[in-house]
Order: sequence, then structure tokens, then C-alpha cells
Amino acid sequence: MNNKAWLAAFEVIATLQRAGFEAYIVGGAVRDQLLGKDVHDVDVATSALPTEVQSLFTTTVDVGILHGTVIVVHPLAPIEVTTFRVEGTYEDHRRPSTVHFVRSLRDDLARRDFTVNAMALTKDHTIIDYFGGQADLAAKIVRAVGDAKERFSEDALRMLRAVRFVAQLNFTVDRQTKDAIQSCSADLAYVARERIKQEIDKIWQGEAITEAIRLMEETDLVKVLPGVWRAQTWRGFKPKTVEEGWAYFLHYNRTQPHIASHYRLTNQEKRSVKQIHLAFDALVERGFTRLDYYRYDGNVLCSAVRIARHLQRTKLSEEDVLQNKARLPIQSRQALAVDGHDLQKWCNKKPGKWLQQALQEIERAVLYEEIDNTQQQIRSWYCNGVDQR
Ligand code: ATP
Ligand code: MG
Repeated sequence: MNNKAWLAAFEVIATLQRAGFEAYIVGGAVRDQLLGKDVHDVDVATSALPTEVQSLFTTTVDVGILHGTVIVVHPLAPIEVTTFRVEGTYEDHRRPSTVHFVRSLRDDLARRDFTVNAMALTKDHTIIDYFGGQADLAAKIVRAVGDAKERFSEDALRMLRAVRFVAQLNFTVDRQTKDAIQSCSADLAYVARERIKQEIDKIWQGEAITEAIRLMEETDLVKVLPGVWRAQTWRGFKPKTVEEGWAYFLHYNRTQPHIASHYRLTNQEKRSVKQIHLAFDALVERGFTRLDYYRYDGNVLCSAVRIARHLQRTKLSEEDVLQNKARLPIQSRQALAVDGHDLQKWCNKKPGKWLQQALQEIERAVLYEEIDNTQQQIRSWYCNGVDQR
């Protein structure tokens, strides 16, 4: 448990209460604390309006006043404080554009997605649970608050959130909730892809990815999401990073490179995925060479190995890979005993394309231990080579 965030949240609650408002810890923090899991952020819900919250604390950040959220910058941790609210009308199965502030905790909890996410915790550690969240936690069930079909047609992302909680918590989805997902599945197409990506990122970090994707298969969500979604392919595979998760998913979609853009991967993520794929190809086609160990980052090599091992395309272990990489005579161009300036001096030439090529040749010779990484050896090897050319 992140004690600082809890202490900060309890102090924020105390301040709000002293001013005559109600305030509780709500949502994921209550759920995860009851599950004995690490809590990363502690959210507070309050009857105070955003302007009232602002006036009670010295430092606040306005992150979404229209939606009722103010960050209170407590010295121990920043705390998101959100005014009790209900949501306005939903258009196109997306999040509503308007919200209405209310003064009742119950109404606020009722607009939340699942029973396990709709509990509140008071300052004296009493749990407020109007919708059977504790029973569902004990039975490991994801169940919509209220009428599931209605809730999913309000905001279709909730269906993918159910899948995400299956992956994250290893829960099963209540029958009616599952049937409702099936009947509303097509509506997921209306949801912003950035929101979809956030949930998929969390699926890749989950413990029960196979079960989550099986749920997507059974409820037809896979029909709305491009790419190959096959639960079976995930059995026994747990990515170490989000990027490795995407790399593995996209491995089955190599002929459709636009899929990474469809899911709004960042440029950095796309680069990592590409590197993992290239390293994977190198490994399964011919095994890693010294140049591969040199060229690819340790994380990329390990992701490629984990994927290849899962697909039974290599016997190499991650330890082997890291050891082989560590044994290289140099780890980067900066470690070479010479640089571009030296070469220009030796050859008396202006910089140009030849310089990159020369440095690459030298790197290669040093990596394969044809020469030692010393000025002298590199110079005589390179200058003799140039004479011969
Ligand atoms: P995590 O541990 O991944 O942060 P979380 O449950 O805190 O999980 P958030 O996305 O941070 O998830 O949302 C905080 C809370 O807001 C949820 O627990 C839930 O009560 C509510 N919530 C979030 N998204 C929705 C939604 N689309 N519809 C209804 N309620 C939602
Ligand atoms: Mg959260």
C-alpha cells in the first residue's frame, strides 16, 4: 500500500469534513485495498463543489473543473478530489459531455461501472457498499451497477473495462452483465480509440489475459476490434511490459501494419514494437549475431526471446542473452577508442557519408575481435584497409 497517498487522502477528507462537507475514498483504491493489492492512486469523492474544494486548500490544480475534478497538492501526495456527480445525457454511446453535481454519495456511486468499483471508504475505515460490491469481490465477479444493458449503451467503453478487470483481477463476469456485453458489443465502435488503448494497455499488464480475450471472443467484442484476437495464443504467455504485449499481439498482424496506428500506439511504442519484431526475426531465422546483441537494447532482445520461447522458436534464455550482450567488447559507439574527428585527421578528409561507413566497419571489427579497441590497432587496421581498397 502506498501509505503516503492514503495519509494524504485521509487528511484531505478531514479538512473537507471540518468545513462541513462529506468526503470518502472511492473507486479503485477501495477495491484494491480490500483485495490486499497495491494501491497506486487514491481518489476522493466529496459533496463540496470544485470551487469550494479550491478555497479549502492552498495548492490545487484545475484538471477538469467542468467534470468536478480538482487535484489537491498535498505535501505527501497529490489527491484527485471529485465532486459527487451524475452524468448528463449520453450521445453515441460515449462519455457524456455534461455532468451534474449532486450532494448525495449514493447517486455518485450509482453512476459507476461495476459493483466492485462502486464502494466508498470513510475516514474511520467503514465501507459503504450499496450495490453488493463486497460480496462480488469475495466471489470474484464483475457485475454492472444497475441495468447492465443500459449502462453499456450509455458508455460502451465499460464493456472493455469489464474485460480489463477480468485480466487484471482474474474475475469472471456475471451472466447478465456478459449477455449485455454481447448485445451491445457493436457499440464499442463509437468509442474513442485512445480510451480503448488505455484499457488494452492494462489488459497486457493483467494476470489473466487468456480469460479476458476468451470473454471478448464469447461476447463478440473481437468483431469490433481489428486484428487477430485469439485467446488460445495467449495461453502461457505473460508480457513483461506493455510494449511486449503489443509486440506479441501485432506479431499476428505483421501483414497489416496500420493496426498499430489504429490502436493509437505512440511513435515510441511503434519503434519498440518494430525493434522487437526485427530482433525476433533475426533470432528465429539465424540466431542472434554479435551485431544483433550490439544493435538491440537488452529489453528488446529479452522481449524477442520471451516471444520466441513462447512460440517454441528458440531455446535461448534471457540470462544467455544478457550475458552474451554483456560480453561484447564494446556496448556503444561512444565506447570506441576512436571517433569521427580521429578518422578525419588520419584521412585528411571532410566529414561525409564515408565517415558513418568507416565507423561501422570499425565497430564490426572490434565487435568480432579482429582488432582490439585501441587507437593504435584501429588506426593501423583502418589505414591499411584503406590502402588496400
Ligand atoms: P485502476 O486501478 O486501473 O486505476 P480504477 O477502478 O481506479 O482502476 P479508473 O479508470 O481510475 O479505474 O476509474 C476510477 C473509478 O471511476 C472506477 O473505479 C469507477 O468507479 C469509475 N469509472 C471509471 N470509468 C468509468 C466509466 N467509464 N463508467 C463508469 N464509471 C467509471
Ligand atoms: Mg484509478
